[in-house]
Amino acid sequence: MIDRNASIFVTGHRGMVGSALVRRLEGAGFERVLTAGRKQLDLRDQAAVDQWFDEHRPAYVMHAAGTVGGIHANRSRPADFLYDNLMIHATVLRAAWRTQVQKLLYLGSSCIYPRDCPQPIREEYLLTGPLEKTNDAYAIAKISGLMSCDAYRRQYDCHFIAAMPTNLYGPNDNFDLEGSHVLPALIRKFHDCREAGGGTVTVWGSGSPMREFLHVDDLADACLYLLENYDNPAIINVGTGEDLAIRELAELVREVVYPEAELTFDASMPDGTPRKLLDVSRLHSLGWKARIGLREGIESSYRWFLENAPRGVGAQV
Ligand code: GDP
Repeated sequence: MIDRNASIFVTGHRGMVGSALVRRLEGAGFERVLTAGRKQLDLRDQAAVDQWFDEHRPAYVMHAAGTVGGIHANRSRPADFLYDNLMIHATVLRAAWRTQVQKLLYLGSSCIYPRDCPQPIREEYLLTGPLEKTNDAYAIAKISGLMSCDAYRRQYDCHFIAAMPTNLYGPNDNFDLEGSHVLPALIRKFHDCREAGGGTVTVWGSGSPMREFLHVDDLADACLYLLENYDNPAIINVGTGEDLAIRELAELVREVVYPEAELTFDASMPDGTPRKLLDVSRLHSLGWKARIGLREGIESSYRWFLENAPRGVGAQV
């Protein structure tokens, strides 16, 4: 077990993943969880990152910062997604090596895998085929991040590990319809429909792509588990091992939020990759399994949305 007095730097702590990591670490008794706001530290700036690491000397790093978004955001802003995500890991990994951080956990994404690889996706399928076009820029940045973990390990014996989470959702998600992923977008759309007193919710694409969804609190639990129990150059998938069609997801969110809503599909919007189900046997064999069921997770996310979303996104606060 990691000493609860050890300092851990969580990058991206205002985001959905970073904030879940902070909650999990504090819940586990860590007393020195370090964070740095965007205004305080631009993670794309090597000199600033170096200075921050010199001043704070974290013993561990959980690297959750990134520029992220759903299919539309990825497709519309590939240059920003590539630049930000490349720079952010390049600076942090360099500083972590230079200041002899004891262990670093890097978070990748399931979109790093080839578009048409066999399902469920095993870690070895990395770099065995072409990427999905709607998020290839983001994927390339993330692949270079996990290659960097391996490179620092090979050249400098750094204890850098890389976890690949599937599609995530939960508290502090982005509910903005342009930039968000499908699950928070559907919560928001059904909620708006309920507020309007009825109507039709439009689901992008055909509804047939298959996706897997992991609650971010499960991810945070897995990350701490890996930080304490895993030290290996091989990347490791983090998911539930179960997926469903976008149409089924829409029906489930409808049941939770507003069963009276009608559904329609907008075929002019992209489907993206047809299926993205992670093989989680490596993680299971280490002794970790997801606990939060999808319905339960959607219910708690909707409660979070109602309690926290600002007026601007249509929630009652
Ligand atoms: P992806 O997993 O990288 O493709 O990212 P998303 O979570 O953005 O999209 C997953 C799937 O859900 C895609 O097939 C989308 O077309 C579909 N989808 C259906 N409705 C929506 C919506 O309102 N927003 C988003 N982002 N995706 C939607």
